Amino acid sequence: MLPKKSMAMVQTAPRKLERHDLPIPGVAHDSAIIRIEACGICGSDYEQYEGVLNTPLPAIPGHEPLGVIEAIGDGAAEKWGVDVGDRVAVETMLSCHCCDTCLGGSYHLCDRREIYSYIPLTTEPALWGAYSQYMYVAPNSVVHKMDKSLPAEVAVMFNPLGAGFRWAVEIPETKIGDTVVILGPGQRGLASVIAARQAGAGTIVVTGLSADAEKLKIAKAFGADYVIDVENENAIERIKEITKGRGADVVVEVTSYATAPVRESLEYVRRGGTVVLAGVKGFRAIPDFVSDLIVMKEITIKGAIGVTSSGYKKAIKLIEDRKIPIEKMHTHNFSLEEAELAIKTLSRQVPGDESIHSCLIPEQ
Ligand SMILES: [Zn+2]
Ligand SMILES: [Zn+2]
Repeated sequence: MLPKKSMAMVQTAPRKLERHDLPIPGVAHDSAIIRIEACGICGSDYEQYEGVLNTPLPAIPGHEPLGVIEAIGDGAAEKWGVDVGDRVAVETMLSCHCCDTCLGGSYHLCDRREIYSYIPLTTEPALWGAYSQYMYVAPNSVVHKMDKSLPAEVAVMFNPLGAGFRWAVEIPETKIGDTVVILGPGQRGLASVIAARQAGAGTIVVTGLSADAEKLKIAKAFGADYVIDVENENAIERIKEITKGRGADVVVEVTSYATAPVRESLEYVRRGGTVVLAGVKGFRAIPDFVSDLIVMKEITIKGAIGVTSSGYKKAIKLIEDRKIPIEKMHTHNFSLEEAELAIKTLSRQVPGDESIHSCLIPEQ
């Protein structure tokens, strides 16, 4: 039996989260209600919290939901192949699945795209985010069944790992033996190491700051061959050395806000190589960006936003196989009421503490 209300953390203004008790709706033929087991926290949670994304308010944040189906309509159960009691990973994007972009195979860029956690409370049935005990799963959702015996904080890593597979393997078409340079050792960078290793990359290099020493250690544990502290080493020279002057086949840029790595990615990549840009920079221009390098070296630059089903499926398989110690990058579990602390811990606003992968675990 579903309870009547769900406790949720509602964002009412920039940097303001409030505890609310919201009614849990009944399900229709084609929708479901899940009990949230974990909600992953990522950099865009911080941007949403700060208000820089200009998302509608009030709304329930949390776009990386993992939960158990508590109620489901017959149509949804049939369509998704799941039932009450199943654990599901819910994809972030809500696409129409019938516009030209969706039908062209890019449903994550849907012309009518909506995103969980960016839908306001005023849109029925309000429970559109995972900073909540319960979440509504809309008819146009994409859900993946997951092994229930995994700890929730590990299962919910389908998000960063899915990004690793899409950004470091699928988009750049990473091949066996390729040299892959990953700029930034956050959860997405570390997930990129795992994914590139799975794809058979020959050499993996990860760059970071001096403050990232711990993360760079984890990068090595996940299979990075070289790590570079860009504050104390000349990264351009080091990458030249490592690649014997040739440059990397693939460069994946996943730093947050830093603009220098975008400029330098053109130096790191080989002639004819590919650069994937996935780290957002708050819409700032990149100083000293030399586009001639793109011309002279015939560099392919690709943007990456979000993850699609093939990336999520690879991530879920890897998690369920339990062969890679992905929990090494999980650092914090927070309660729902600690949502603000979770965001601040990720964004280095808590002295002496910093998270890599973290999630909210609602108490029931
Ligand atoms: Zn996220
Ligand atoms: Zn569409």
